[in-house]
This record gives sequence, structure tokens and C-alpha cells, in this order.
Amino acid sequence: MLIKTLLNKCYPVKGFIYGNVILSDTKITVKVKERKGTRGLCNQCKEAAPTYDHLNERYFRFIPLWGYMVMLAYKPRRVSCPEHGVTVEHIPWAQGKSPICEPFRIFLSHWAKYLSWQEVARQFRVSWRNVFESVEHVVEYGLKHRNMDNINAIGIDEIQYLKGHKYLTLVFQIDTACKRLLFVGQNRCAKTLLRFFIDFGKERSGKLKAICSDLSW
Ligand SMILES: [Zn+2]
Repeated sequence: MLIKTLLNKCYPVKGFIYGNVILSDTKITVKVKERKGTRGLCNQCKEAAPTYDHLNERYFRFIPLWGYMVMLAYKPRRVSCPEHGVTVEHIPWAQGKSPICEPFRIFLSHWAKYLSWQEVARQFRVSWRNVFESVEHVVEYGLKHRNMDNINAIGIDEIQYLKGHKYLTLVFQIDTACKRLLFVGQNRCAKTLLRFFIDFGKERSGKLKAICSDLSW
């Protein structure tokens, strides 16, 4: 089976096609092209707009395959939106300037549940920041779409990074029936935790039966 066929099966992207596949010693690079006759979407209003020009090729990490690093290579269009002017098109497989494709982000954050973030970074040859941003992104998505009702107990923890000079605050649901990460915030100050409780809401906070933490705030 061709790698192109595999990608079309597991991750088809509307308006784009997978092109040439280049294999090197450690890496598979898949060229991505816009489908003929389609127009790019303005990254602000998501409306189709005429092409203005193409930028240099950008590389996006995809889920590794059989030990090979997998990259998508694409020359983004700049589009001329009647409302927002000349702007880089919306790229559906990656967010903003992130070099990590959406499916790879989900893959990394899945492994981050079982391994330390440092170990995930080492195993999949990405930076610690790539892992952090993947987890943060997935948690943000989860917070928007997941039901946080009926949580009885939460646990608050901190982790150090950058050789112990920086901290992250983590909040978990720790009910017997459901254990999950609810929130990741920069620093370990009262403000960080306040951000969680603002998202969580007064009503849900009032229903909490236990908050577990060994931190001093
Ligand atoms: Zn626009």
C-alpha cells in the first residue's frame, strides 16, 4: 500500500491532496498540495479567498511510522480576503505557527498520560515544549467540550521544568470512578489556581467535597 493511500484513509484533508513521498534514512517527507481549483481560507473569517502568493515550504511533524519521522511539507498560500486583506491561509492540520500536526498532538498527549513529558519528548524526538503545548491544547479542547459536572474531588499538584526554575500547576479530578487531568497552568501562584476556579465555575466549586493538595499557597 502506498503511504499516500494510508494518509488518505487515516487523515484526509478537505481541499488538499497528498503528493510525492520522499524517503531518507530516518525520515518520510510527504508533499501536500492544494486541490486544483480550490481557494484557501482566510485564517480570520475562514471564508474562501483568491490566492495572493505562496510562502516558503513549511514542515509539520506527523505521527511517526515504523521508526521513521514523518513530515508533511506544504507551501502555504497567502490569500487576499476582501475583509482582512492579504493574510496567510488557514491550515487545517496545524494551529497557528505550530510545527506539530493535530493528529500528532493528540498522539503525544495520549502518551503523556503514561510517560513523563520528558520521556515522551525523547521517545518521539520532539521538544519538551512540543509535548507541553500538545497537552495544553488537548486539555483546552477538553475543557471546552467535556462535561465537568458532578466532580466531587480534585487534586492539585505542581511540576518543575527548565531545571526547576519554572513551575506548572496541574489540577486533576480524583473521584474513584473517574481520574483525569482538568487543567494545566503556568506558574504556581494563587492567580494560576484562580484561573482554574473561574473556568470551573461557582456552582461546581460549591459541590466539591474534597480538595487535595500538598502545596502551600
Ligand atoms: Zn477574512
